[in-house]
Amino acid sequence: MQDRQTVQAMLAQIGEFKTELLTDFSQPDNAAAFEAALVKVRGQFGQKHPLVIGGKEIWLDDTFDSTNPSHPDQVVGVFSKAGKELAEQAIEAAAAAFETWRRTPVPSRAAILVKTAALMRARKHECSAWMVYEEGKNWVEADADTAEAIDFLEYYARQMLKLELVEVYQTPGERDTLHYIPLGVGAVIPPWNFPLAITVGMSSGAIVAGNAIVLKPASDAPKIAWVYFQLLREAGLPDGVCNYLTGPGALAGETLVDHPKTRFIAFTGSKEVGLRIHERAAKPQAGQPWIKRTILEMGGKDAVVVDETADLDAAAKGILVSAFGFQGQKCSAGSRAIIVADVYDALVEKIVAQAPQLLTIGDPDQRKHYIGPVVSKNQYRTVLNYIEIGKGEGRLIYGGKALERDGYFIEPAIFADVAPDARIAQEEIFGPVLALIKADDWKHAINIANSTEFGLTGAYYSAIPERIEYAKKEFFVGNLYINRKCTGALVGIHPFGGFNMSGTDSKAGGPDYLLLFTQAKSIGEKI
Ligand code: NDP
Repeated sequence: MQDRQTVQAMLAQIGEFKTELLTDFSQPDNAAAFEAALVKVRGQFGQKHPLVIGGKEIWLDDTFDSTNPSHPDQVVGVFSKAGKELAEQAIEAAAAAFETWRRTPVPSRAAILVKTAALMRARKHECSAWMVYEEGKNWVEADADTAEAIDFLEYYARQMLKLELVEVYQTPGERDTLHYIPLGVGAVIPPWNFPLAITVGMSSGAIVAGNAIVLKPASDAPKIAWVYFQLLREAGLPDGVCNYLTGPGALAGETLVDHPKTRFIAFTGSKEVGLRIHERAAKPQAGQPWIKRTILEMGGKDAVVVDETADLDAAAKGILVSAFGFQGQKCSAGSRAIIVADVYDALVEKIVAQAPQLLTIGDPDQRKHYIGPVVSKNQYRTVLNYIEIGKGEGRLIYGGKALERDGYFIEPAIFADVAPDARIAQEEIFGPVLALIKADDWKHAINIANSTEFGLTGAYYSAIPERIEYAKKEFFVGNLYINRKCTGALVGIHPFGGFNMSGTDSKAGGPDYLLLFTQAKSIGEKI
């Protein structure tokens, strides 16, 4: 009873969840503050970072560099390269910390998330500035990433408190209760593309539920993960509850996945790695007393569908923003636009007409640039290769060239007249490549949208309510948007996750998410 009151009091004290406001950079003060953060962050380039296991900093001679994709010769930070042995140590440290953390009352755990959110809010521009330099995000994209990270912290703190208050029916002569207890030790393995939001979302969900974790950031995004990890420490998270382990996914990551003391893996990344983790985690190791749980969020080949009744100006903008926000490096990116034949030519014309104003390209640390570099040399090669494939599969009507400069800059490429089964219409490219596909009619368009192995996001532009109702039922995606872009899911408002090969539909930022990090214990007590 006492516990319920404490939980209720904390919920009342912190108030309802509210989405973090995005920064209005048209205000000179805001723009100046962001400039200052960029300068500050640049002054910290090149620092060396340790692993942190059980609160102990471990500095390795074997390191790797995180570089600025706009200027690959700039080293953003130097990171220790953990191998098998240190990954095992990190799991052991988490297992030790779990014994105390799991007994820590939920309000104390939630308070650490709320405190971390406050610290992050106070250093919002600094966090965003790191992502401008480490991942090549433009100002607005970086700001949205930080805002989403703050939202996850605030939202999961409240959701965990609410889980404590869940009630079951009572049978006479008993007191009947249900308790959501943690799973144990988790490996948290995020991607580089929402390097703060996803890292914070997966890790804070696991932590507030009472688990202890090893956080293995993506090798293209260790710095921003470090910045977050420092905030967790500053907020008072006990040593060992979150262990910071940088190193190659194929070695350090895989060791975490395979370890017998690992109870769950929270992964967001490519389909190939996600399926590999799923398979490896399914095999019980000697001494492993549980079935490992995997929470896997993977790729997308998302579509914006436009019928002949849609507002074509709005659709053209929605298509461009969905396809090219953060250079198309979003699992939610609308990399296919499927347009009904009657308006195909008219809409293609509008898309090409709007593109140059919107898709300004250059260093993302300057506010005027919308398109920055792709994240790495590998990604650069992959995207250019797909552009070559696209030339054989469609008509290149916009962009598609690499810029002649040192960063990984590629002009956004738009291909018209692409067949629904072409490679650039089926495979996740994860870069600035848009395939325009002509459909006979609106139902055909939705069928084409459903014809990939993925099922993450989608948008439908139409003015006809019956068709919209049909799309709500038949457009097979985890996140459907009507008459708006297919990116930009908000925590608590658009719980995010996809179907089929897009993953386990774990609905990040939704009311069910924390159940994935808990197991429910029912107690019937005779009174
Ligand atoms: P990857 O799958 O390449 O990497 C993701 C993470 O897995 C990284 O931390 C990586 O480490 C690690 N990793 C790599 N190999 C292994 C392994 N064998 N065992 C364990 N861990 C491993 O994805 P990207 O980082 O390139 O991210 C892009 C992908 O993420 C896209 O496919 C995108 O669609 C997807 N994504 C999905 C989202 C969703 O919600 N559905 C959201 C955002 C992205 P290292 O970097 O060291 O290799």
